[in-house]
Amino acid sequence: MPGLSEMKHPVKIANLKKSYGKVKALNGISLEIAQGEIFGFLGPNGAGKSTTMNILLGLLQPTSGSSSILGENSSELSPEIRRKIGVVFEYNNLYRDLTGRENLEFYASLYQVESRRIEELLELLSLTEAADRKVAAYSKGMKQRLLLLRALLADPEILILDEPTGGLDPQSVEIIHQTIEDYRSANRTVFLASHFMAEVDRLCSRIAFLNQGEIVTIASPDFLKKYYGQQSIAVKLESMSEEQAEDCRLELRGILSAEISIDINKNNNIIEIIIPLEHAELGSWIDRIRKDFPVSEIHSREASLHQVFISLAEEQEGPVLNV
Ligand code: ADP
Ligand code: MG
Repeated sequence: MPGLSEMKHPVKIANLKKSYGKVKALNGISLEIAQGEIFGFLGPNGAGKSTTMNILLGLLQPTSGSSSILGENSSELSPEIRRKIGVVFEYNNLYRDLTGRENLEFYASLYQVESRRIEELLELLSLTEAADRKVAAYSKGMKQRLLLLRALLADPEILILDEPTGGLDPQSVEIIHQTIEDYRSANRTVFLASHFMAEVDRLCSRIAFLNQGEIVTIASPDFLKKYYGQQSIAVKLESMSEEQAEDCRLELRGILSAEISIDINKNNNIIEIIIPLEHAELGSWIDRIRKDFPVSEIHSREASLHQVFISLAEEQEGPVLNV
């Protein structure tokens, strides 16, 4: 039986290193995931997310370091623990020539899952209508929903999801996000690899930002935004003609220093000026703009995770993530 401390942290990773020949994929990463959290693993392609997950699942041997899942060492997982882990891998491993339902029935027979559960989950993931079509005819979004459904069949205690929404239509993304949130609400745990900020921002209680095989930071999305992100003030001008807007922009450029962004919305020619809250000239610039330009709105803007990762990646001089 796993001890209490393991039950509180269903995932523990300690100083994991992995080299593929000369390529250092993981350079000593450590993290613990608490029961009941959606933990985001965010990093650009090649950061080492899949390598970490494959080691955690016992599918790959680390060069050094250790990891455990649901209290068992990754390299010696028992069948009982395995069935408590739901996984969506990076590459889909469905039987293309079988229907969606047949794929699920095959899997369900391995785990003695009742057929009623299949029907419920098909409904939940909006796949009931497509269930009797061959997987070969599914869209990417449908395949990913089917994979998540399959991972949920045996009612696992933890979900390991490797970039489950990459390249999907917005509707599928929404269904997948909703399903992950519902799953977690029963105090179950999710380990989610992603390279989408909006996704981890919405879903995760904490994020580890991985870059070139190293964890740059682990924190909540809100903490990251406060600590690394830049709050700013947005000033909007009234709508004007395209020509006037262009004149205004030139005039503003003469006042504001070069790093301040001045955007013109192409649809309504509304100019938006973004000035960092800490900028020494903030007060005098705003006074000046108010006096000489038709200001319609001034409000403060939250930092975005996107900004955070740009500044983190710059600190590390590594690749920057996609938004
Ligand atoms: P991510 O999932 O974050 O995109 P990966 O874990 O797939 O990153 O890859 C991490 C690094 O390890 C990359 O540099 C990748 O090229 C390398 N890598 C991954 N798998 C292999 C392999 N089987 N053989 C050699 N190099 C690999
Ligand atoms: Mg990957």
